Amino acid sequence: MFQIQQPNHIIFGKYAASEYSYPNDCLIITSKGAKSRGWIDYIKGNNFKIFDNVEPNPSMNTVENIISQFKNEKFSTVIGLGGGSSLDVAKFVGFKLKKRKIMIPTTFGSGSEVTKISVLTINGKKKSFHDKQIFADIAIVDSYFLNNCPPKILRNSAIDACAQCSEGYDSKSGNYHTKFLCKKAFDILEDAIINEKYENLALGSLMTGLGFGNCSTTLGHALSYVFSNEGYSHGHALAFTTTASHFFNNSIFYSRFKKLVKKLNFEPIFLKQDFDTASEIILKDRKHLDNNPISVEKNNIIELLKKINHGKIFKNI
Ligand SMILES: [Zn+2]
Repeated sequence: MFQIQQPNHIIFGKYAASEYSYPNDCLIITSKGAKSRGWIDYIKGNNFKIFDNVEPNPSMNTVENIISQFKNEKFSTVIGLGGGSSLDVAKFVGFKLKKRKIMIPTTFGSGSEVTKISVLTINGKKKSFHDKQIFADIAIVDSYFLNNCPPKILRNSAIDACAQCSEGYDSKSGNYHTKFLCKKAFDILEDAIINEKYENLALGSLMTGLGFGNCSTTLGHALSYVFSNEGYSHGHALAFTTTASHFFNNSIFYSRFKKLVKKLNFEPIFLKQDFDTASEIILKDRKHLDNNPISVEKNNIIELLKKINHGKIFKNI
């Protein structure tokens, strides 16, 4: 038995976010820079209530601040506009306040607009909430936002999408439907990156979200968080941790994923923390490790961390 869950309404197309008729009473949740980048003008949202202070790796405090600031105001709909961080906060606020949720990604990697996952930081640690009430009611995926996306963000988002669909394909929690979507998503993303057809990242990322959102990511994501805790962005860490994971799992995506990391020209990463402590932290991440196609022991993790450090995974396996 398996289940497929996704938002009821998904709109995909260039300029779709500008052409959509929003209700008159919306609260936009976004990050600083949304106004100066012209996003609010673009969706014709100047008359809406706006919270534009979502930080990267957002905390539960931000959710609570928004709720206390706006809970007595009248609005029917929360619009999440931005990268994964803004969408995760907007989905959670909409869920808590029982409002309609419209999610509009401006970066293409997390797939957050179509997943029931919200990742928030509590006491400095990332926690992911999974609940079907977190789903957006409407996801609007518009490749227009790729136009002024900084190359570093584009690159980090693209490799996150590639990691999510390829780990999702390998995941033990997958099924025919998720494998189909994840495989197709990887084909689209690979072509978009290798042939620099970046506009197609929007479709690849959407299909990734629909695929892995109904299964899970695996070892590559489990290995990445100790690097994120030392300041590497999610995508940058995955460039190496997912390569190592695909090597360990003998994944069909190993050499293809590695080529994409090379094409996107990621700098090697380096873990300062000692491997023993790091491996203990990673081993506790059962949600990812239990879905890995091959069981993972502490010594495997230490070996992989050695290979990841300084980019050795790209030299002499
Ligand atoms: Zn990810």
